Amino acid sequence: MAIIDPRPFGGTCALRGCDPKKVLVGAAEVIDWNRRMQGKGVRAQDARVNWPELMRFKPTFTEPVPEQTEQWMTKAGIATFHGRARFVGPVAIQVGEDVLETANVVVAAGAKPVDLNIPGADHALISEQFLELDNLAERIVFIGGVTSHSNSHMSLRELIAV
Ligand SMILES: Cc1cc2nc3c(=O)[nH]c(=O)nc-3n(C[C@H](O)[C@H](O)[C@H](O)COP(=O)(O)OP(=O)(O)OC[C@H]3O[C@@H](n4cnc5c(N)ncnc54)[C@H](O)[C@@H]3O)c2cc1C
Repeated sequence: MAIIDPRPFGGTCALRGCDPKKVLVGAAEVIDWNRRMQGKGVRAQDARVNWPELMRFKPTFTEPVPEQTEQWMTKAGIATFHGRARFVGPVAIQVGEDVLETANVVVAAGAKPVDLNIPGADHALISEQFLELDNLAERIVFIGGVTSHSNSHMSLRELIAV
């Protein structure tokens, strides 16, 4: 078995999606709960999300993922290739100089944000860039669906808390 990816191993969820998002959302929920419990047995007026600190925390759990992923794959006997895969035959895949011939191919190449196709679209950030912001802007417009809503949830809690 072989696996090919040009980006660090681990995929979107662990590196740029679910996991970083859940930790940030978790912090935002603490602020939310704190606000809601004020005067109901909880006193912690100063609780607030510190975005730059959260951003420094994020790589502590995302950065080890590629190496750990590659290690367990190698241990499990999976050959790992770093590069962009392309078909050079019905069941032949080229990555760099290597051509892998196989009986079965699974394409799990993920998804990318759609082209917004609106004037000024190049000013917009995608979720991956949002999750790398050093500081949050005071006013943000989110365009799009579920991921965008998660991001807006955590920003909103942050902004309310400041
Ligand atoms: C901000 C955010 C938050 C999210 N939160 C959640 C959540 O809470 N719960 C949830 O269930 N889902 C969540 N998702 C969605 C989840 O991350 C994706 O559904 C999941 O990662 C898709 O997995 P995948 O293996 O299909 O693709 P990916 O994990 O994207 O992996 C595809 C890989 O294919 C590689 N690739 C592309 N083209 C080639 C090529 N030609 N050759 C070799 N490799 C190639 C890419 O580099 C990439 O690493 C979130 C996504 C985002 C962006």
